[in-house]
Amino acid sequence: MPFAIAGQILHVDLTNRKTWAEPVPEESIRRFIGSRGVNAKILWHAVRPGIDPLGLENPLIFGTGTLSGTFAPTSGRTTVTCKSPTTGLYLKTNVGGHWGAELKFAGFDYLVVHGAAVEPVYLWIEDGKVEIRDARHLWGKDVRETTRLLHEETGDRSVQVAAIGQGGENLVYFAAVMVSVYNAAARGGAGAVMGSKKLKAVAVRGHGSIRVADKQEFYRSCHVAIKNSYEDATAKFAHLYGTAGSVPMVNEARAFPSYNFRRGHIEGAEKIGGPYLAESKYLKRRLGCNACIFCCHRYCEINDGPWAGCYTGGPEYETISALGTGCGNIDLEVVLKANELCNIYGLDTISTGNLIQWAMEGYEKKIFTEEELGGLTLEWGNGKAIVEMVRMIAYRQGLGNILAEGVKRAAARIGRGSEKWAIQAKGLEQSRVETRAAFGYALAFAVNPRGPDHLHTETIAEFGVRPGGRRLIKKITGDEKYANPRLIEKRAEIVRWHEDCFAATDSLGLCAFIDTSRFGVDPEQMADMLSAAIGTRVSEEELMKAGRRILTLEKCFNVREGTTRADDVLPWRLMNEPLESLARGADVQRALEAKGSENDFVPINSPAMLNRMLDEYYALHDWDRETSWPYRETLERLGLQEVIPELEQKGKIPRRRQIPE
Ligand code: SF4
Repeated sequence: MPFAIAGQILHVDLTNRKTWAEPVPEESIRRFIGSRGVNAKILWHAVRPGIDPLGLENPLIFGTGTLSGTFAPTSGRTTVTCKSPTTGLYLKTNVGGHWGAELKFAGFDYLVVHGAAVEPVYLWIEDGKVEIRDARHLWGKDVRETTRLLHEETGDRSVQVAAIGQGGENLVYFAAVMVSVYNAAARGGAGAVMGSKKLKAVAVRGHGSIRVADKQEFYRSCHVAIKNSYEDATAKFAHLYGTAGSVPMVNEARAFPSYNFRRGHIEGAEKIGGPYLAESKYLKRRLGCNACIFCCHRYCEINDGPWAGCYTGGPEYETISALGTGCGNIDLEVVLKANELCNIYGLDTISTGNLIQWAMEGYEKKIFTEEELGGLTLEWGNGKAIVEMVRMIAYRQGLGNILAEGVKRAAARIGRGSEKWAIQAKGLEQSRVETRAAFGYALAFAVNPRGPDHLHTETIAEFGVRPGGRRLIKKITGDEKYANPRLIEKRAEIVRWHEDCFAATDSLGLCAFIDTSRFGVDPEQMADMLSAAIGTRVSEEELMKAGRRILTLEKCFNVREGTTRADDVLPWRLMNEPLESLARGADVQRALEAKGSENDFVPINSPAMLNRMLDEYYALHDWDRETSWPYRETLERLGLQEVIPELEQKGKIPRRRQIPE
């Protein structure tokens, strides 16, 4: 058995009810590290362009990190990959919990599910064996009940379950795969792909362990990572308040998406933030993913009032904005209840909230017919309506059926101008970052292969509010002054560095909380942990280059599907309307002409500003500026020769128009 990995890819063909295993190719780990990287490679080779994401040809790939199942801090992450029903493009979605480590203990690093079953099934994987089992009795049940029944059926509460709820069964385009009930592989509709396969759950139990090559050096490098992580003052903050901790701060900064991204501030937001929750009667305990040193998850209950009996993980920062302030709602109990329903029905809270906001704005603007509304009153902040809409989306009832296919399709169907307040790009609902206030984020969101979202490349460092962030910006750009989110300069460099680092982090199975979010660990330390684990020296440069190789392969998947530069955009509102709190009269032209630190106030990221950042970003990657497609030499330099013949045959290898910089 190789070091650090279990060494096997498990394939399950649900159409023909066949299972088989193959060794993980050594070169896959060398070139793509693991998890997200290896998943991307499997997907590239398994899929023809143009296939239906909900059809038989779309595989659903689960990939564990190369450090998952070891002592490495925060190594509990797993990546789920497929073609997205939401965007029709590449999808990777990352999830915590304990499922990934358990899969490795059971003898497999990857699970690739092909085809579809006729009747509902679940997979039972235990110590190197797999069974396709009848799941008709589980179909129609929510994620929590499914997990409980599988624990009962297997007689083992330590069994780790990845499952879909009613959202996935009903092919809601933003359905999530839920792990251990409250961890979501949420974005982009992997749950709908699982539902299209009639695969209700994957239950896993393993009694094995993972060996590392150099135990002493591995533990030494892990301890350095842990020590450095605890030195950042925000480690404790993350544990106490989770991602929700920053709610009051971001609201005060006038950058907390509210009222469907029309405002960046809402009175009373502190009453739904992490610090308030931590002192409230709702918080019952804190939890963490496998091998986590932060344990940022929280678990809450409501014991009285209209939502008594509600119990749920979270809520996260994103959920609070999506189901709370974005809908004009500052009632924490409503957020908890709507979050609980999203978790047990298996829905992405970000997309769900985004859809409800879109409908609320439409209601305010009186665009819906009475028949479309079906008696709903969707005023801003109507808690009962928010909770009811979650249920209607999961079951595809009434207006919920229109919303269930995502905001781009809903706006296209309803029309009446609603495309302008559909907060999406590439078909994905934007996550809860005010990209008009942070230009690194704006660029990262525009070029993200899965759509405008923070979990591909999160450039928190550009805010420069913590010493670790300022140090990182200096390392990337050469000067701390670029730690300023209102600058355009150096955003391309900052984004590209984070892309490389994020891809490496995901592929190792680590959490962004350890590096780009909390700055405790840098790529050199990640390379040290990996080297000691696998027994082959991997340098920081090689690790980061592998990250870029992964990102570029993901880009190539989309190029093969037909994307061009025109797809690298942000939602219309975020490109064209000023955020109330930032629209203080500074003009965009002045910002474009300004240089360095003089350019310290920019009210809005207009198409012109984004175009300038895109030019710099493509040049830095050595991609063609006109099409955004990678050049042949770029692919060769990254060792991605395998994609060239197909792209060339489709005419998608651009001819060089400019000298590389
Ligand atoms: S920091 Fe939070 S999300 Fe990340 S691994 Fe730990 S518990 Fe999971």
